[in-house]
Amino acid sequence: MKIAGKVEIDDLPRICPLLSRRTVPRYGEAQTRIVQVGSVRFGGERPVVIAGPCAVESRGQTLEVAREVKGSGADMLRGGAYKPRTSPHDFQGLGLEGLKMLREASLETGLPVVTEVMDPRLVEQVSEYADMLQIGSRNMQNYPLLVEVGRARKPVLLKRGMAAGLCEWLGAAEYIANEGNFDIVLCERGIKAYPSGEYSRYSLDLSVIPAVRAETFLPVIADPSHATGVAAMVEGASRAALEFGAQGLIIEVASDRLDAAKPRCDAAQAISPRTLRRIIHYIDARQEQHLAAMHAA
Ligand code: PEP
Ligand code: MN
Repeated sequence: MKIAGKVEIDDLPRICPLLSRRTVPRYGEAQTRIVQVGSVRFGGERPVVIAGPCAVESRGQTLEVAREVKGSGADMLRGGAYKPRTSPHDFQGLGLEGLKMLREASLETGLPVVTEVMDPRLVEQVSEYADMLQIGSRNMQNYPLLVEVGRARKPVLLKRGMAAGLCEWLGAAEYIANEGNFDIVLCERGIKAYPSGEYSRYSLDLSVIPAVRAETFLPVIADPSHATGVAAMVEGASRAALEFGAQGLIIEVASDRLDAAKPRCDAAQAISPRTLRRIIHYIDARQEQHLAAMHAA
């Protein structure tokens, strides 16, 4: 029985005709549309690793963490210059100054940079400094913002709303595609579930990853940092997400070399560059296994 007004997966061809595999058969049942950010390819053979601080806090911190994640083997740099915080009294990010620091870190390391834009009026400014625009979980259904990033001609990292279903998430992506921008990477970042907050920050929805890949040709990555909120869980969550078909990871990292003890934002979920290196080694080993299996076949 169809309940009036209820959005079901069968509605996807109507909600997102530009992005559904059912209405765009060109990508077949399994092929992903590649999203290129500089030399980084989302949806290609190898999962992409984005790493960096939660927030850009200072020039020294940003350069240090950027160098360390580069040394660990990351493909891209992350860092928030504009931060969506629960309280307006918390650190809100360095804004334009932070964007300049990210650009400098990107130039030095050669890592393309992704950073969040929260305000439609700032899409042009953030686009000047970023290689990829991030739409945060809290803004997934900010439709004027989605339209604006759709017009920006920059690749977009669209995080899943923390309470959004698959149809709502893909509907949000459709707003971006509808402006002619198909360079969209989806990111599962944990959802609110019954036990959320009790032992982990959110609940990493692993099952959505194969569902996304079945319904759309857009690449999908996972954010084990915000999903768990617990540094000790990040490595396991990363491996699990890869096993479920995630085509990349976005991970928060803090330097253990910096004098300033703790990041001002999300300190409990930041992993060390050493742990990041281990996650990337795991990806290397998986890639080798896949190649060996392909040759053997
Ligand atoms: C972030 O990645 O910086 C962030 C704030 O994540 P989310 O929007 O998923 O909470
Ligand atoms: Mn964070």
